[in-house]
Amino acid sequence: MTDDAPPPVDQHARVVVIGAGQAGLSVGYHLRRLGLTPGSDLVLLDRAPGTGGAWQFRWEALRLGAAHRVHDLPGMNAMGLRFDDADRSRPARDVVGEYYRRFEQHYDLRVRRPVSVSSVSRIDGTEELCVATTNADGGTARIAAEVVVNASGTWGTPFVPWYPGRDVFRGRQVDTTEYRSAKEFAGQDVVVVGGGTSAIGFLLELDGVGARTRWFTRRPMVWSESASLDLESAVAAVDEQDRAARAGETLPSIVSGTGVPVSRRIRAGLDRGVLRESPMFARLDETGVVTADGEHVHADAVIWATGFRADLRHLAPLHLRTAAGGIVVEDGRSVDEPRLFLAGYGPRASTIGANRAGRRIARQVMDVLIGP
Ligand code: FAD
Repeated sequence: MTDDAPPPVDQHARVVVIGAGQAGLSVGYHLRRLGLTPGSDLVLLDRAPGTGGAWQFRWEALRLGAAHRVHDLPGMNAMGLRFDDADRSRPARDVVGEYYRRFEQHYDLRVRRPVSVSSVSRIDGTEELCVATTNADGGTARIAAEVVVNASGTWGTPFVPWYPGRDVFRGRQVDTTEYRSAKEFAGQDVVVVGGGTSAIGFLLELDGVGARTRWFTRRPMVWSESASLDLESAVAAVDEQDRAARAGETLPSIVSGTGVPVSRRIRAGLDRGVLRESPMFARLDETGVVTADGEHVHADAVIWATGFRADLRHLAPLHLRTAAGGIVVEDGRSVDEPRLFLAGYGPRASTIGANRAGRRIARQVMDVLIGP
């Protein structure tokens, strides 16, 4: 081997899927149906220790049905499993983790975990992509793949906007991924930032433990009186995601396009005055936040429920990021790297359309493998 020869690969696979959340499992299921063999042709990797994708990390109090509806994976109903019938008294993380575990076993998807993908790069002189991985013991491996499907979600990259004073505030600051339980804030003054379903959930939970909350959002809240996401606004929000993905922009949140459905629980919070937002504050200081009008709001803690960005750091060697911050993606496929597909990205984020998208991506992947 010459000095500049690339290190050898440890395995050749036809397809590597990065991430075994809803998006990765959906694509994996369809690829298996289309004839690939999990474990050899088809390799699914996930860096998390357990099943359930991001759901396994969500806070204990979150229940299914508290946010939007979680759609079933394709093939789940054939196993007799439906999220609509799931036990809503158990933490969502346990229910989703268990359903996904049974799904993986039933369809023998052989997800390797915990295996973290550190980079995806091109292999000079070949048509393959190289997926570099690290396992729990720190062992590394390189898998060459004809196609890579990235389904890495957003949980690994929470987004916290910068406001003046963020580093002088002496209280506690947590983002959505760090929030464990409202009990940690019992009796405290808590500022919650963000206009999505996570912020709403936190406010309602904090109210239940006697925390005094103030809520700040960048835009006034839009409440949707239908108790579930109404179809028209959902379609508009998905279209906007699609437009942003095609333009290579960072993706807007789904909720910003749809409004938040007023469930019975949210209605009660609105009636109690717990869900009354103020316009975003101007800055933080040592003991709280200062509004644009100069009001000082004391805070023991600030919870940033300010959303996520797509977790695409491992794709950096492919140099696909545009100046606008995203990757140009059309119909689930990278325009600049046709051997790369992105599942759960853009119009396929959340469970809206995720299953249909899984099938579409799997079909396109097979077209690449079979060739013209
Ligand atoms: P994830 O579930 O995040 O799965 C991605 C997987 O990729 C993870 O398992 C992760 O370990 C793995 N991964 C990431 N990077 C790497 C890497 N480098 N190497 C290897 N593995 C990697 N949606 C709904 O439809 N209904 C809801 O009720 C709902 N509630 C939500 C509540 C909260 C608080 C949040 C934050 C989101 C909610 N969503 C909801 C949106 C939700 O994120 C999606 O439904 C779903 O979890 C997304 O699936 P995914 O497969 O794209 O991503």
